[in-house]
Amino acid sequence: MNIAIDGPAGAGKSTIAKIVASKTGNIYVDTGAMYRAMAVFFISKGIDADDTEAVEANLNDANVTIRHEGGEQVVILNGENVNGKLRTEEVGNMASRISVIASVRRKLVDLQRDLARTTDVVMDGRDIGTVVLPDAKLKIFLTAGADVRAERRFKELAAKGIEADIKQIEADIIERDNRDMNRSESPLKQAPDAVVIDSSYMTIDEVADKILGLAEERREKQNAG
Ligand code: C5P
Repeated sequence: MNIAIDGPAGAGKSTIAKIVASKTGNIYVDTGAMYRAMAVFFISKGIDADDTEAVEANLNDANVTIRHEGGEQVVILNGENVNGKLRTEEVGNMASRISVIASVRRKLVDLQRDLARTTDVVMDGRDIGTVVLPDAKLKIFLTAGADVRAERRFKELAAKGIEADIKQIEADIIERDNRDMNRSESPLKQAPDAVVIDSSYMTIDEVADKILGLAEERREKQNAG
């Protein structure tokens, strides 16, 4: 049973998806990490996201694959494990900018569908319930206020000893949400059959338990039907 979790940046999708995957035995697939790996590639090439022609001309040289090691997703870019390079603001912003390009999306959506064909997944992203896995048995749209998401990101950075400006983080989050929601290719939007969960005032465990409960309900319905 595939589970799709979509929502804006910083809503807690990856933390929650990992817990749900470990409890259901599904494989966790973080699709944002694939867009981030593409971003690492284009940054290293010195190609700007606005230069669509250059992005498309170089796209075939970016080979992104996924491996799973001890429950963790490892992203391989042209033979190199790039997990350590994915979580910076620079890479996140570049990922958001290149993800508006249709050919970039097509390439990664194919990879995502291949992964879900061979195994049950909990996949998180922006277009999983709407485009990548429209037949997923359970779709969640996980959201939270922009201020709450900025505060979470700020704390995450502080825990790593990285200084940041919370107002700047919130501005970046809002800009990224706008770009993700307003692009013409697979914009971030709630699938009509998705269950919306606002995590602003919920703990991680409360959100995970809610999703696990819904998954159990769907499984019972599937078995009964
Ligand atoms: O989720 P994460 O912040 O890692 O994603 C980075 C960027 O990749 C997002 O801001 C979004 O623009 C893009 N993305 C996407 N579709 C997905 C996953 C991520 O467009 N399925």
